[in-house]
Amino acid sequence: MQLDWNYNSKNHDLKSFQVHGGLTHLWLKREDLLGDGISGNKLRKLKYNVLEAIKEGYTQILTFGGGYSNHILAASFIKKNYGIDVIGVVRGEELIDKIDENPTLKLAKQNGMQFHFVTREVYKNKMSSDFLSELKDKFGDFYLLPEGGTNELAIKGCEEILTIEDEKFDYICCAVGTGGTVAGLINSSSDNQKVIGFSALKGDFLKDDVAALVTKTNWEIQTDYHFGGYAKITSELITFMNEFKSETGIVLDPIYNGKMMYGIYDLIKKGYFPKNTSILAIHTGGLQAIDGMNRLLQKKGMPLINSK
Ligand SMILES: *Cc1c(COP(=O)(O)O)cnc(C)c1O
Repeated sequence: MQLDWNYNSKNHDLKSFQVHGGLTHLWLKREDLLGDGISGNKLRKLKYNVLEAIKEGYTQILTFGGGYSNHILAASFIKKNYGIDVIGVVRGEELIDKIDENPTLKLAKQNGMQFHFVTREVYKNKMSSDFLSELKDKFGDFYLLPEGGTNELAIKGCEEILTIEDEKFDYICCAVGTGGTVAGLINSSSDNQKVIGFSALKGDFLKDDVAALVTKTNWEIQTDYHFGGYAKITSELITFMNEFKSETGIVLDPIYNGKMMYGIYDLIKKGYFPKNTSILAIHTGGLQAIDGMNRLLQKKGMPLINSK
């Protein structure tokens, strides 16, 4: 089966809020429904990279990620659907005999991904020329995809998330990890729209990272909704996500979209958006990470994420 690279995802009419004596209308673009088990934006980011790898005649793709990475799982579908070998260089040597306990790695393995586990130390220097030539000696030549899948071709793929019909929205909102997805949205937004990225990581550095990827200025990064940092989670966030699920029927992931949606609700409550605004939030998927997160929450005696 070939992946559907030309997917147009539907906009879901989510909710209206009374704001400044008018109605602020929130819509959700369902990129989470895009591939079978692949996070929406990860498929967007793979598209032009896979087409390029094929065009250049590569038979192998090599990429990087953590043990629960949406990108690692998405890349494994390239092996399953295109037969190109995919090597995942995974952070954490200890995971080597925990593959079957880890839902992400287990499925990636079933899809035919080949793993190369490395220590955190080695992983830090993964883009060094020494390490890359070590990998070439071991595996032979490969098309290199960076961590999180972000490069120029990935951004080009993310420019296809928005369509002409989305020009009617005043704001476009999206979660930010490396900045590739939001950069694509910024490139394809119109000048009268504003793009808001919600950082899933602690710190201010993503503003510079995104600025380096785009030329337009109709965007900003919100940095107050990381809940302690990347993949960190609190009971307050879980409660919000579970209420959102029972109210709308839509499941959010705890690492990106839960934090973005919390941030959007919070900004609406604080009167951040002007009267009669329409907002389109992008649901980028990532639901595969919930099982792994729930195992961790259970160990800590915290409430679980309801995804059923
Ligand atoms: C990777 C990812 C993001 C962040 O995308 P970037 O392009 O790295 O900023 C957002 N949501 C989900 C579900 C992801 O897997």
